[in-house]
Amino acid sequence: MKYNDKIIFATGNQDKMKEIRMILGDLKLPVVSLKEAGIDVDIVEDGKTFEENAIIKAKEIMKLTGCVTLADDSGLEVDYINKEPGIYSARYLGTDTGYDVKNQSIIDRLKDAKGDERSARFVCAIAACLPDGSVLTTEGTIEGVIGYEEKGENGFGYDPILYVPEYGMTTGQMNPEDKNKISHRGKALRLMKEKLENILEIDI
Ligand code: IMP
Repeated sequence: MKYNDKIIFATGNQDKMKEIRMILGDLKLPVVSLKEAGIDVDIVEDGKTFEENAIIKAKEIMKLTGCVTLADDSGLEVDYINKEPGIYSARYLGTDTGYDVKNQSIIDRLKDAKGDERSARFVCAIAACLPDGSVLTTEGTIEGVIGYEEKGENGFGYDPILYVPEYGMTTGQMNPEDKNKISHRGKALRLMKEKLENILEIDI
């Protein structure tokens, strides 16, 4: 297969791009963001799973560019409330609602949940769409329990309420380098890197 000169990661989020470059930086092709590739599109994420949403984004951008395209979708799954907010993590209670409100809402909904009943995880699915239309996917998770109050000033989103027993702190209390080493996104990215290395090695 003939590849274009770059890999596009379908995100506009600069913080994600830093983590992505740290992990995918030594692939044979450079990894660029949508903005760096000069692309500005709105993609409707109407999949039913993290994986479906990642595939929708990757396919759409690959069709526009002809480049190997990666995309991710991630969120928080809380077992006690049927894996909510799940794929609706960013949209939970409205996109403009602050995370202090979203986090407190989840804590409140778990007021009767004890011990293991509070289990939850961050999930990240990554999809790669290749110029021949084939698709590769990987998934990573970080397991924890929902805390009784928000803790930690680092990170973003639901970080202050996912307590990771193994580390004795929430992901919001971890420093960013430590979180990246064990995060859902880091795990999914490293798995994707292995898959891409194999393909690029054979085909270029
Ligand atoms: P997206 O994959 O960028 O669409 O992220 C979806 C949403 O999931 C984010 O807006 C956050 O609410 C949540 N989320 C995903 N990863 C994390 C994380 O590492 N910490 C906290 N919240 C996260």
